[in-house]
Amino acid sequence: MKKLIPVLVVMLSVCNSYAIMAQGFSGPAIRKVVIDPGHGGHDPGALSPDRKLREKDINLSVAKHLGAEINKKYPDIKVIYTRTKDVAVDLDKRGTLATQEDADLFISIHVNSAKRTTSAPVGPETWVFGGDRSRRKDDSYDVVLKENEVIKFEENYKTKYEGFDPDNPQSMIVFNFQKDAIMRQSRILGSCIQKSLRRGPLPGSQKDRGMKEGGFVVLAYCSMPAVLVETGFLNSSADRKILSTENGRRNIARQLMLGFEEYMKTYVQQELSPANKETPQTQYRVQILSSKEALPKSHPTLKAFPDTRFVLCNDQIYKYKYTLGNFPNKEEAQQYCNKLRKSDFPDAFVIAVKDGKLVPAN
Ligand SMILES: [Zn+2]
Repeated sequence: MKKLIPVLVVMLSVCNSYAIMAQGFSGPAIRKVVIDPGHGGHDPGALSPDRKLREKDINLSVAKHLGAEINKKYPDIKVIYTRTKDVAVDLDKRGTLATQEDADLFISIHVNSAKRTTSAPVGPETWVFGGDRSRRKDDSYDVVLKENEVIKFEENYKTKYEGFDPDNPQSMIVFNFQKDAIMRQSRILGSCIQKSLRRGPLPGSQKDRGMKEGGFVVLAYCSMPAVLVETGFLNSSADRKILSTENGRRNIARQLMLGFEEYMKTYVQQELSPANKETPQTQYRVQILSSKEALPKSHPTLKAFPDTRFVLCNDQIYKYKYTLGNFPNKEEAQQYCNKLRKSDFPDAFVIAVKDGKLVPAN
């Protein structure tokens, strides 16, 4: 474990800062997405029965379509790929890249396979990092083994992943860098994506193989919400029909994009609504600044005041109203506001919020 400690400390501190932001800073501030086309280079991933279709090629194509779909609708979101060519990338480096880039989301793209060939459609699965220790040997176990297997070909894998036995995905739990807040968001992202994939284009999608948890090395190194999608099964001729065409891959990417979009919406609701649900009456907060766009996590004010939350006012140009404090009455809020005016925010003023919306502060 010795060699891992510095990595662990870095990862934990990244997780911590993110978790604080996630709680204090609500909103769809997704600015960077890392898309990870699984496998590559000497590692083809799953193969079709005639060995002509290779998982690594499908993954890369779906990943590029997904990036294009995201940028078509959200040109401000920066899309970063872990690979854009047919090259091998170590599993730990994929997640680490996302962490170094301070990405907000990580989506790993894969294609599944099972031993027996079938003409029946099978469909997609979405995975998040986690592990049920009671489940030792079943289909899920196989998927995790297959996706982790490649580390055996990485240089120095025994030292690099010390403490991890690739034949036992449960040992991945010792690497559990992910904070609860991140895992919670990963599950929201995973269920949004799975729900969207259920609508197509794979014929077996409606059956819904669900969102699952497993000890994936690639996800363990991510310090942001992260999912691994198995878009379909290469051993199923029905799934192959979609997976083998460029159009099919684009349609899969489109569903992934819609799932991602749903996550952004859900995320706002999840982060903004709990407080409002508990307290349906008016709350008073102190507005310290407003902005046309969501501020990045690295913004000095958000860094200095991690409890900052915003109220979204879609009908205004400066629609993000950043606030501090939350009081049941205006007097307390005003006292707090006076303090803030004397220190960091001379222009601060009290606003009233009800059901997540700005209301007159009378
Ligand atoms: Zn794979």
